[in-house]
Amino acid sequence: METQKETHQFKTEIQQLLKLIINSMYSNQEIFLRELISNSSDALDKLRFKAQTDPDILGDDSQFKIKIVPDGIKQTLEISDNGIGMTHDEVMENIGTIAKSGTAAFLEALEATKSQDTLTPELIGKFGIGFYSSFIAADKVTLITKAAGSNTGVKWESHGDGSYSMEEVPKETRGTSIILHLKKKEKDGQDFTDEWTIRQIIKKHSDFVRYPIAMDVEKDEPLPKEEQILDKEGKPIGKTTKKVIREETLNSMKAIWLKNKTEITDEEYEEFYKHISHDWNPPAERLHLKLEGTIEYNALLYIPSNAPLDMYYPDAKHGMHLYCRRVFIMDDCKELMPEYLKFIKGVVDCPDLDLNVSREILQQNTLIRNIRRNLVKKIFELLNSMEKEAYDKFYNNFGQVLKVGIHSDFENKTKIADLARYKTTKSDGKLISLKEYVEKMQEGQEEIYYITGENLTALMNSPHLEILKEKNFEVLLMTDPIDEWVVQALTEYDGKKIKSAEKGDLELDKIDDDKKDEYTPLFNFIKVTLQDHIKEVKPSTRLKGSVSCLSGDTHDMSAYMEKIVKATGQKSPEIKRVLEINMNHPLMEKMKTIFEKDPGDLVLKDYSGLLFDIALISEGNKVLNPAKFSQTVGDLMADSLKV
Ligand code: ADP
Repeated sequence: METQKETHQFKTEIQQLLKLIINSMYSNQEIFLRELISNSSDALDKLRFKAQTDPDILGDDSQFKIKIVPDGIKQTLEISDNGIGMTHDEVMENIGTIAKSGTAAFLEALEATKSQDTLTPELIGKFGIGFYSSFIAADKVTLITKAAGSNTGVKWESHGDGSYSMEEVPKETRGTSIILHLKKKEKDGQDFTDEWTIRQIIKKHSDFVRYPIAMDVEKDEPLPKEEQILDKEGKPIGKTTKKVIREETLNSMKAIWLKNKTEITDEEYEEFYKHISHDWNPPAERLHLKLEGTIEYNALLYIPSNAPLDMYYPDAKHGMHLYCRRVFIMDDCKELMPEYLKFIKGVVDCPDLDLNVSREILQQNTLIRNIRRNLVKKIFELLNSMEKEAYDKFYNNFGQVLKVGIHSDFENKTKIADLARYKTTKSDGKLISLKEYVEKMQEGQEEIYYITGENLTALMNSPHLEILKEKNFEVLLMTDPIDEWVVQALTEYDGKKIKSAEKGDLELDKIDDDKKDEYTPLFNFIKVTLQDHIKEVKPSTRLKGSVSCLSGDTHDMSAYMEKIVKATGQKSPEIKRVLEINMNHPLMEKMKTIFEKDPGDLVLKDYSGLLFDIALISEGNKVLNPAKFSQTVGDLMADSLKV
């Protein structure tokens, strides 16, 4: 077979990343083996799954296996599998680009930490470098693979230095072999061709891998009697054993989730988590469930200690794996966990499932639906039992995703609301629950108040909250875009209405009707002046110190929601809001006097515009015409300075 050898350049970010990986993971070199074995195990899973609908794909090679071949003389280590393999294009796509969707996010995170030459394991964990960890131990990596059903093999090779080559090569068997040309061993470094080193690494990191990880090892076996030299009395002289090479399986392949909790050490739980999650950090929490009775299943679930970088990508994988009596059925099993818990990693083993079950069938399957309901309940119990500090950390990582459930899971809305946390005007930067909020409600306070917006400080100081602050009522400060959906779905909590501080009438103060009548002509004038931007001018019951603010009717879109909608590129209908004016502010008295003297006075138009502008600024928005604004304010400043 004559084919061209192609050379390709890695993307710059991959080069950068490779350098970082090699430098930072130096103290923990051995984990490359776990990563490669995990990939092989995944490749075998994929093949097995495909073989369920296409049994011919296996041919006569149906003994799934991962094989390790060390060579102490050549200083190479080979990891092979007879899994699904890759085509030329798949190699290009999977190996030529690092972890697809996460790359950009990863580099942003790197940029943010500003530490371009130290990569923390935490960051790597979020990212999951997988195959590229080979370069921790090797200075050249050769990958030879043949996809199931394909006639040709592909060889990929790189020194991890910026480019890689690819060419078609003959390959007999299906699957992937990775040959690591090991770096020169440092003084105290591990020898990755040493049998006992390999045994110990596999025992530690990959014991539960469900396919045999085999290696040829040298063993002493008894010499058959006829080959032994015996003395007169029939006792053997000299050797009684001979060295033979035998293939040995190095891992126990035990399905950890089927074992009893008491038989599993923390380390084993942790290693299993790393295996299924491709996360390098230990999990924050775990949940090992064995259910018997009407619904029967075993599950082992984990909450990661960090949010993965691709959490907000719509195509990010779910973390659930489905098994039936230890046989792997599928990963990325969305049917087992609602979207708002997609960060949970784990396995569910359900003995009553048909092995050939497809995703389509799973969606309709009542058993799976019941398991899912049950798992969700157990996760809520776990979250509720966590210590405050650990929970806050969890919430900072996953709260934004979790809260989606308030909107999407009607049945569990209240339970998820119990788990939500917010900073408030009184919580001093700490997160509190709605339950704590209700417990602390003041005498005379009937409702739960919130305000939404991007910026915590702007919210804290928003003029909308003036009356609430005067009454010493606490206000939830909602800064996640998702909170806009939360408050749409959650209109009540614990029998108390949840009310926006910036919309509708708070009904906490009365308008002085006589005063209102006095101001009506001026308000009408302001309304006409600003008619392109506002729908009404109203005396405010909210404002105590500030002179103006913008508010909406109860069912109007909030300013923040409008911003979110615009940011997504959607056209939102121009929403006019109400300009609320504080009649007790000294400015209004003066404006009224001027208006009564000469309604045509030009200053009144300027001031009407400014009332609107400062209302916008106070909620963190931009004025419509910054140049005009600064000019007017400049003139005013000049006029008001008395020298
Ligand atoms: P991850 O495993 O996290 O997706 P990797 O960089 O380790 O990231 O691998 C990238 C992709 O390359 C895998 O998703 C898989 O599609 C493919 N791949 C890696 N190793 C193998 C293998 N032994 N057999 C088949 N495909 C593999």
